[in-house]
Amino acid sequence: MKLRVRALKYQWAGIIAVAVALAALPPSWFEHGPPVCLIRAAIGVCPFCGSVRALAHFFHGHLSEAVRMNLNVIVTGPLLLYLAADALVRLAGWDRRVNIWKGSNHRAT
Ligand SMILES: [Zn+2]
Repeated sequence: MKLRVRALKYQWAGIIAVAVALAALPPSWFEHGPPVCLIRAAIGVCPFCGSVRALAHFFHGHLSEAVRMNLNVIVTGPLLLYLAADALVRLAGWDRRVNIWKGSNHRAT
């Protein structure tokens, strides 16, 4: 059980690290280097190419540029933002302190 919790914490930290990297690094940082897409190399086109650049622009608030890079950012951008916020709440333990449906978990003494 403790191993599973530890694995989840690494997973949450990874999600947060990806979101922070996308927000901290300039979008132009992701535009350098050779393309490394195996799908494009195999069949010539790829529906996922540009996704990282799109997410980088999304996290910098450049929404039109993000959509221009890859349309899937309409789903993946808000999803990653939600997952990072959820991971932060769980990693910080805030989800155990207050349950909005049941009220505070703290007992009055
Ligand atoms: Zn690709």
